[in-house]
Formats: sequence, structure tokens, C-alpha cells
Amino acid sequence: MRCPFCRTLDTKRKGTTGTAPTGLTGVGKPLQRFWCHACRRSFTIARRTSSTRSRFSSDVVHQAVTDYVEGLGSYRMLARTYSRRLSRDVSRSALNAWVAAAGAAAMTPLEMSRRLAPPGWGGWVGIDGKRLRIGSGDEATLMVAVDQTSTDLIHARVVDHESGDVFATC
Ligand SMILES: [Zn+2]
Repeated sequence: MRCPFCRTLDTKRKGTTGTAPTGLTGVGKPLQRFWCHACRRSFTIARRTSSTRSRFSSDVVHQAVTDYVEGLGSYRMLARTYSRRLSRDVSRSALNAWVAAAGAAAMTPLEMSRRLAPPGWGGWVGIDGKRLRIGSGDEATLMVAVDQTSTDLIHARVVDHESGDVFATC
């Protein structure tokens, strides 16, 4: 096994981790641990189904966050449901942390369109501002981001002033 720190192959198996994350289908297997002779550090193979040191695998986290976002229950209710379902204590604060992390990891519309890269898009974004008059004399600016090749609208937002930094926060 190649060492993730120094990239040498001078490593050997060295037992397994003591704990394993609990998933929807039960407790996972402990991970194989390795020892690197060159840099004298131990490591495990990257776990694909959960983040390091997490007590629950990502399918549990994903399902719980989805339930919460879809309004299937309060933190208190979901904590009780999941604790019973997994036979392992799921706290309200853990649920809260999972939902907060999912929110922080969510992409903005602009990042999403960049990721999806629809066919026909050139990848060059043009940003333009249009002055708007709202109600009795209040002015605002409609900022639009448009793909220059397809002229598809990527993102639009009404802001107080036309400037680069307001769009950066969209
Ligand atoms: Zn190493």
C-alpha cells in the first residue's frame, strides 16, 4: 500500500482501527491500518462511505439531512427515530451539525451551472447591470450573468448598487 504522506511503497499492514461507523445497514467493518517505514506514520485506506472519525457513515448522514430538509421531523423527533433505528444514540446536536455542514457544502447557482456545464455553453460568463425603478423612485440594479456563447441566463439578482463585490456574494 502506497503511503499517502511520502508516496513510498515501504509500508506494512498494522492491525485495524478499533471503531467503525454505523450505517443504515449496520456497523461497518473496521479499517485496515498501515505503517510506513520511511516516514514512520500510520494511515488507513481512505474510507469512501464516511468521513474520517465519523461515528455514522455517509448514508446515515445523507438520509437524516434529507428527512430534515423535507420537513419529516424536528431535530428532536429525528434524533429519537434514528437512535431507535440504528440502536445507537444520535443526538440533536449531531443532526444540527450534519444539516449545517450540508448547507455549507451546497453549491450556489453559479457553481452549480459551472459544474453541470450544459452543452452549448461556452464557459465565458458576461455580467451586466440594468437600472430598475421600483415603486416611488427607489432605484435598484438587476445584475444578470449570461453565458456569452449560448446567451443562456445563469444567474440573476437584484442589488442596491452595481459593482463587482455584490455579485461575488451571490
Ligand atoms: Zn511514508
